[in-house]
Amino acid sequence: MSLDNETKVQLLPYLEYIEQDIILKVCYDDTTKNILDFVEEIASMSPKISVEKAQLERVGSFAINRVNQSSGVVFAGLPLGHEFTSLVMALVQVSGRKPKIEDKLIEQIKKINRKLEFTTFVSLSCHNCPDVVQALNIMSVLNPNISHTMVEGGSFQAEIETKQIMAVPTIHLNGEEFASGRQSLEQILVKLGDSVDFSELNNKDPYDMLIVGGGPAGSSAAIYAARKGIRVGMLSENLGGQVLETLGIENIIGTKYTEGPKFMSQVLDHIKEYPIDIITSQRATKLEKKELLELSLNSGAILKAKSVVLATGAKWKNIGVKGEQEFKNKGIAYCPHCDGPLFVGKEIAVIGGGNSGVEAVLDLAGIVKHITLIEFSLELKADKILQERLHALKNVSIITNAQTTEIMGTSKVESLKYLDRNSGNETTITVQGVFILIGLQPITDWLGDNIAKNKIGEIIVDKHGATNLEGVFAAGDCTDSVYKQIIISMGAGAVAALGAYEYLLYRKS
Ligand SMILES: Cc1cc2nc3c(=O)[nH]c(=O)nc-3n(C[C@H](O)[C@H](O)[C@H](O)COP(=O)(O)OP(=O)(O)OC[C@H]3O[C@@H](n4cnc5c(N)ncnc54)[C@H](O)[C@@H]3O)c2cc1C
Repeated sequence: MSLDNETKVQLLPYLEYIEQDIILKVCYDDTTKNILDFVEEIASMSPKISVEKAQLERVGSFAINRVNQSSGVVFAGLPLGHEFTSLVMALVQVSGRKPKIEDKLIEQIKKINRKLEFTTFVSLSCHNCPDVVQALNIMSVLNPNISHTMVEGGSFQAEIETKQIMAVPTIHLNGEEFASGRQSLEQILVKLGDSVDFSELNNKDPYDMLIVGGGPAGSSAAIYAARKGIRVGMLSENLGGQVLETLGIENIIGTKYTEGPKFMSQVLDHIKEYPIDIITSQRATKLEKKELLELSLNSGAILKAKSVVLATGAKWKNIGVKGEQEFKNKGIAYCPHCDGPLFVGKEIAVIGGGNSGVEAVLDLAGIVKHITLIEFSLELKADKILQERLHALKNVSIITNAQTTEIMGTSKVESLKYLDRNSGNETTITVQGVFILIGLQPITDWLGDNIAKNKIGEIIVDKHGATNLEGVFAAGDCTDSVYKQIIISMGAGAVAALGAYEYLLYRKS
């Protein structure tokens, strides 16, 4: 039995949404009979699902088809863990239920008239992967020119090795690498050159308040602003921010435990209760004060507003050494939960001895052969309790007072060089993976010198969240707030929105 009783109970109501009959075409051999058991178990739960044996590209896979019509959606390996939702959505959508995306996107996908064969390599512990799998499944269901196979890396180790997949999700298109990392449907369309029509953005009326960023700070600012009954826009490259990278959250007061993607989807539902104009898959590139505030976007569009709240958050810092850019996704990784399973039995290094670095080591130690933890300072900076757990591990070497100087390899990471800051000696260690976890940096470069920042690039705000530029407020991890946490960002978002609202009340016109 592949599915436990609890999962089955949860699945049953979703199977009620199946509209027309579907067939699960399964390709298996003696070693992959678990795939057959799995699809038969699912089929036994709905009279509208049947199972047929078939030849598919990968032994140990199954396709979800309509009667006499391929949908192009294939799962290779068991879609359990974070991918189970992708499977449920695919079953329902292939059966004819309309995907919950905007009509204009549906039209755009249907218009694609060239063959697109997508393959997404995933790990079941990757919380970024389902977004990509679900987006590409939707495209596949809507357009017969498009097909999509999800490949669960753990079940197809040889293929993962041959194709040198070292980060998930990695998307291949027609056999070539297309993208890696979380991608929204809109981002995939933009990347394909089937650009979402952004020209209408230029024609939008000015906003009373325009929020830049859709993480906790931006979301909270948007809700506070909308509750004042003013015209609010929220522009964000992606919705959810860093929280989407967070698996377990235990410090949202009043909620003992939640997970990042679940929490931010609740926040998004809350935002949608209000008339907030949400614009995604667009990046702000410049902010200028003219008669109104003008925000330029990467598509060339310009949004206008009487006030702006900046909430662009932070991203992982690079170490800035030779080899880092070259081997990104070729052995260099930033997400232990997502990419850890691709390093089973390998020698790796983790750079950074703060909380996130040591947490990564604790996470990875059970998967990999050996970890070298490299910390720049004399001592690790992680919390004592994490350090105690770290010291109990047998397959970890800890090197402190060491500066990583180069990451080397041919087509993927093969070794790492570090400098002993005390002796000046350089040492090269053989590693197949390097996880870089040396903290975050604010996303504020794009603002240039218009907005005052401190020496590490954080926007300087006053107690109302106001910046030096009239009408511009800021909140969350992009600011000089002392602590960076979800509820702190949400509180700061509320402060900035109220500060900006007060500014609007006293503004002359
Ligand atoms: C791995 C990890 C685990 C964490 N765990 C916890 C935890 O357990 N509890 C806790 O309280 N905190 C945790 N944090 C910290 C918490 O996630 C952050 O403090 C919080 O997300 C900051 O919110 P924010 O809205 O300021 O920024 P972000 O969450 O970074 O959101 C910024 C948003 O702005 C958008 N954006 C950026 N630049 C642009 C641009 N130029 N144009 C348009 N949009 C843009 C981004 O797409 C994003 O949506 C964790 C962080 C990480 C990385």
